[in-house]
Amino acid sequence: MKMRIFYETLKNELDTMGIQYTPEQMGLCEAYFRLVAETNTHTNLTRITGEADAARMHFGGALYLFGMMDLPKGCRVIDIGTGAGFPGIPLKLFRPDISLTLLDASGKKTEFLDRAAAGLGIDVAVLRARAEEAARTALRDSFDIALSRAVAPLRMLLELCVPFLKTGGTLAAWKGESYDQELEDAKNAMSALDCTLHNCRSVGCGAVLLIEKQKPTQDTYPRRFSKIKNQPL
Ligand code: SAH
Repeated sequence: MKMRIFYETLKNELDTMGIQYTPEQMGLCEAYFRLVAETNTHTNLTRITGEADAARMHFGGALYLFGMMDLPKGCRVIDIGTGAGFPGIPLKLFRPDISLTLLDASGKKTEFLDRAAAGLGIDVAVLRARAEEAARTALRDSFDIALSRAVAPLRMLLELCVPFLKTGGTLAAWKGESYDQELEDAKNAMSALDCTLHNCRSVGCGAVLLIEKQKPTQDTYPRRFSKIKNQPL
């Protein structure tokens, strides 16, 4: 299968964002997209499988983060509810120095991630766990950056993600077109979890929000998932 459209669209995205790349990195992106698309024919991983859409939304959208913040060399990053590895894996392909943990509750997804990491030869930690439970282990307060796309409304997402961050760490949340409303609805959650909105830039029809954790998270958070969902902060 030749993937000219994927390749050309991705190249165009990278050039527009001013991101440097090597032929090896392009090859890894293609190999990864191929694995996602092939697996998706029998195991539901993603709705976006067209070459141009995938290059733009799965890869370009993820890499947009590079233009918004500096990722310190070797920083600890966790992708919460990563699914087939988005946005975490595209970031890792262009910044192999980051220490990346991919977390998802679904065994189907983590099995795919283990295979993809081995196939691509990338060093990532794959963890099958629920975020609200993993946040009560040694992973709490231990990451510089948490990433998340398409997992939960912002007010719930904050409770699922912020406990993983060190104080001063950043949550990068990829949000859809109703991000303004989500921000409005998340005011109380932001204050309960001692967070502030640091930056917000539109990308496609949504936005990437950067949210900073100002203080250690209170022991009461995260609550059980039923509470997070039925009585969101
Ligand atoms: N981030 C990916 C996948 C989005 S689908 C992308 O943008 O393509 C949402 C994923 O979040 C699913 O794979 C689901 O298993 C996972 N998820 C939802 N709630 C979770 C939780 N509480 N803990 C861990 N994973 C969760």
